[in-house]
Amino acid sequence: MELRQPSSLEELNGAGNNSLLAGGTDLVPLLRDGLVEAEVLVDIRAVVPRGVQEGGSRIGAGTTLAELEVDPGIPAALREACALAASPQLRSMGTIGGNLLQATRCWYWRLDFPCFLHGGSRCHAREGAHREHAIFGNGRCASAHPSDPAAALLALGARVRTSQRELALDELYRLPTEDDRDVTALEPGEVILQLDVPQPEASTYLKAMDRARWAFPLVGVAAARFADGVRLALAGVAPIPWRIESEADLEGATPLPGTAYKVELARPLIRRALDAIG
Ligand SMILES: Cc1cc2nc3c(=O)[nH]c(=O)nc-3n(C[C@H](O)[C@H](O)[C@H](O)COP(=O)(O)OP(=O)(O)OC[C@H]3O[C@@H](n4cnc5c(N)ncnc54)[C@H](O)[C@@H]3O)c2cc1C
Ligand code: SF4
Repeated sequence: MELRQPSSLEELNGAGNNSLLAGGTDLVPLLRDGLVEAEVLVDIRAVVPRGVQEGGSRIGAGTTLAELEVDPGIPAALREACALAASPQLRSMGTIGGNLLQATRCWYWRLDFPCFLHGGSRCHAREGAHREHAIFGNGRCASAHPSDPAAALLALGARVRTSQRELALDELYRLPTEDDRDVTALEPGEVILQLDVPQPEASTYLKAMDRARWAFPLVGVAAARFADGVRLALAGVAPIPWRIESEADLEGATPLPGTAYKVELARPLIRRALDAIG
């Protein structure tokens, strides 16, 4: 395998549509398990901005979760989501850009079952073990998006700047369809460079997990209060980070037999998050 280490965006653009490597905490295990095949890896760390600017409103996609969780300038929801993600070792390597694009943790997918997301016609989780899976948007693939920071950024109304364009965070994600099994809207080779994060009046992130530390969200709730209203978003409930307007939207959930408990788990978390932001 060849490793390229471009030092500028121009050099990176000339590197072709090869696998992009940031902290490597998600990509390297996928390569090791044969779920991603790459002859060329492009280390983007010298190209993607790292650090927080403009009082917390501009975040380089190469900033690590460990750097974000201690930055007093960024909104509390994002700080708390980063602090509750993964383990200290993973957070010190893992970048926010890589976190937003991490692959699903569905074990059928990780064990390379020929499921819908891998291009097949069945969702093995729907028929099999699915306790950690989705309660929304689960018609074709019932995976649960694993990113805590993505839900926080969605509630905050963040925008993403890439090497090709600027888009709202909710435009970065989409449910997989018959024609396109990808859950993100990035083009091959498109690199996330920066996140623009509005400053709310108050915000928070609450997370229910199997252990008190180092566990993916069963349900994560991000809430942010702005002058014109409150924005809510959930992690761990759909194949992509999921926006809701209010607790009442839980009535529209389509849980599987083994995930119905997530609806009841989300309810008090939403209430507590709303209480916390006043
Ligand atoms: C055991 C374990 C537990 C975890 N627990 C949690 C958890 O509880 N909550 C949570 O939110 N996350 C959790 N994670 C995920 C972890 O936070 C991510 O693995 C990490 O943030 C990914 O960042 P990275 O820089 O290492 O990405 P990489 O592994 O380098 O890349 C991940 C993907 O993103 C792409 N990529 C990376 N940066 C960019 C960019 N700037 N532009 C375009 N593409 C890019 C890569 O090509 C690759 O496809 C866990 C991971 C592990 C292994
Ligand atoms: S939930 Fe999605 S990733 Fe998991 S088996 Fe079903 S289609 Fe595959």
